[in-house]
Amino acid sequence: MAVTLPDLPFNKDALEPHISSRTFEFHHGKHHKAYVDNLNKMIEGTDLANADLETIIKKSAGDSTKAGIFNNAAQVWNHSFYWQCMKPGGGGAPTGPIAQKIDAACGGFEKFADAFKTAGATQFGSGWAWLVMKGNELQVMKTANADTPIAHGIKPLLTVDVWEHAYYLDYQNRRPDYLKTFVEQLINWDFVNSCLG
Ligand code: MN
Repeated sequence: MAVTLPDLPFNKDALEPHISSRTFEFHHGKHHKAYVDNLNKMIEGTDLANADLETIIKKSAGDSTKAGIFNNAAQVWNHSFYWQCMKPGGGGAPTGPIAQKIDAACGGFEKFADAFKTAGATQFGSGWAWLVMKGNELQVMKTANADTPIAHGIKPLLTVDVWEHAYYLDYQNRRPDYLKTFVEQLINWDFVNSCLG
């Protein structure tokens, strides 16, 4: 049972002009695919060969002898989650149950947006910014490189990829502009609400 590359949940040009089809050709078709292919090679013939992706992540997390497996498995999971966090015509203030939770935990959408963009902008080097449920507490956090909340028993609700490969073709070095666009134009709040359930 090999790990598979999921299709994008939208056409690769669906988020233009915010994220180009060329970015998705590389980001999904090359980077995400490479993580899937690398992982399948690494787990072949091991006790993780038939495990599901979350099990592979949890069993390799914190084990320095399995760092390659962890990095590729976590990147497969993070990217599959990230695609679902975006939709054409998304972004802006949330609707549904997450709206009240953000108001209660963050003091309103604008404060959440600032905290989320700051988390992404201040992640030094490669990584991810997240909205998560940690226990019963809604929190904004960031992780470095491939690290993922699910390795730490924390439930992800929303993520944005801040590796340069996520934005460089469309924004060059302007990571804050990419983050602003993500928050204002792309977040799929329906998906975030579905993750609360
Ligand atoms: Mn990426």
